[in-house]
Amino acid sequence: MLSAFLFVAGALAARVHPHQFDSSAYAAEDVIERDFAIIGGGAAGTYAAINLADQNKTFTVVEVTDRLGGNTRTFRDEATGASIDIGVQLHEDIPIVRDFFKRLNSPLAPFQPSDFGNPKYYDFDKKVALPNHTRPNIEGDYVAVLNKYPFLDDLNNLPNNVPKDLLLTWPEFAKKQKLSPASAEAGLLWPATPGNPLDTTALAIFNDGNHVELAEYSGAAVRSATHYNSQIYDNALAELKEHVLLKSSIIAAQRGSSCKDGVRLVANTPSGKKLIKAKQLIIAMPPVLDNTKYFALDQKEHSILSKLSGKHYYAGVMNNTGLEAGVAYTNVGENTPYHVAGLPGVVEIAGAATPGYFFYWYNSVDPQTQEEIEEVTRNTIKWLQSESGVEAVEPTFQDFADYSPLHLSPPTRDIANGWYGKMKGLQGHRNTWYISALFVAGSTQIWNNTRNILPDIIHAAQS
Ligand SMILES: Cc1cc2nc3c(=O)[nH]c(=O)nc-3n(C[C@H](O)[C@H](O)[C@H](O)COP(=O)(O)OP(=O)(O)OC[C@H]3O[C@@H](n4cnc5c(N)ncnc54)[C@H](O)[C@@H]3O)c2cc1C
Repeated sequence: MLSAFLFVAGALAARVHPHQFDSSAYAAEDVIERDFAIIGGGAAGTYAAINLADQNKTFTVVEVTDRLGGNTRTFRDEATGASIDIGVQLHEDIPIVRDFFKRLNSPLAPFQPSDFGNPKYYDFDKKVALPNHTRPNIEGDYVAVLNKYPFLDDLNNLPNNVPKDLLLTWPEFAKKQKLSPASAEAGLLWPATPGNPLDTTALAIFNDGNHVELAEYSGAAVRSATHYNSQIYDNALAELKEHVLLKSSIIAAQRGSSCKDGVRLVANTPSGKKLIKAKQLIIAMPPVLDNTKYFALDQKEHSILSKLSGKHYYAGVMNNTGLEAGVAYTNVGENTPYHVAGLPGVVEIAGAATPGYFFYWYNSVDPQTQEEIEEVTRNTIKWLQSESGVEAVEPTFQDFADYSPLHLSPPTRDIANGWYGKMKGLQGHRNTWYISALFVAGSTQIWNNTRNILPDIIHAAQS
């Protein structure tokens, strides 16, 4: 009943006057005719755009914010020379990554674990220092599961008959599979993992902490040589500027069922409404209903996409903290299962490459405001100052990022009912393709998957 109501609500939200799709209703400069419309200019959308440009294809990127890069965020202050990555930190050291950074004139350097800072452990909730705490590493039994189920790396390959154990929560799986205590705890320590780790399925843990992640943490990782991971996106924007609509979003869509019908999209932009006529539509934003309801979803699309939801995760930068340079002040639970940190709360406050600056990550099951998050972070810093016996100073917050919705997934029962196969089956349906993070979590794999699916998308545009 609820889903029927939401479908009607979505259809109403998408309802527009038919003349909105007529070129004659627009000034000539407001009609944009291209091979492809790419919605979202993060890791997936920018990679697709650069690749299409290199193949002399035409496209428009529609991005809701004022920049490209999505979850790759770098705080930069020209005055102080500060450059601090607060989102994406590292990539696997493989040709696709090296080629993309080279293509966009951004130098790489090997990633060192100390780039995150040297960890010191505390229970921020209980306000106790844990000087003797150490973090365990993944052991062979964890890798053995990944090897046994190769589809965990990329859920495009997930069989419809999902092994039931993988749908257990991590604690249930670890107990049933008798994982070593080290692997059971370390499986919950992959960086930037949103939500309550104890409620997360084994499938999601392994999909995030997969062979690519293992390779990165075994030393095969690179980062921007100047701690400016966003440079590739800033350079892409400089190059593609005339093909990118920033601060823009789609408010109505008409998508045909055959390739020759193409798609027509109405975009709200800072310079008024534009009509985009494209052969194929590439969705590179999170395809949650909040975003896709304007695309006049049919029943099939709605029944699949309405299942998706994402989690909440935040970051920020501050200086004047009084804290010790180069330290990653890390939150762990003193007496919680697997030493999981309390939620909501600061995950860590990490010394940045630029002296005097720190960045923090913050995890919460429910959405929180910037004010709430900065208040908790400020109180944590003040407690760390007193705990470390340093002068009490007032931290200055310099930047804030909200990464929600992150790690999209459907409910576990829908995964058991073959959701990933159904989602994969939507590729190309009504001239629409999905390339953002759904089947894989990291941007290195997003680029791989985008490269693999682009020939099909280009082929559809030529049909
Ligand atoms: C804190 C953090 C650290 C991470 N660290 C790493 C790491 O070290 N290495 C790694 O490989 N991965 C890392 N990741 C994961 C990585 O960020 C994702 O894999 C990647 O960003 C996903 O790419 P995407 O294009 O799907 O989404 P995004 O990069 O989020 O891009 C989506 C884009 O769509 C836009 N958008 C949203 N809604 C709309 C709309 N309605 N209309 C138009 N545009 C819209 C957004 O503004 C955004 O630009 C990290 C993630 C986080 C949050």
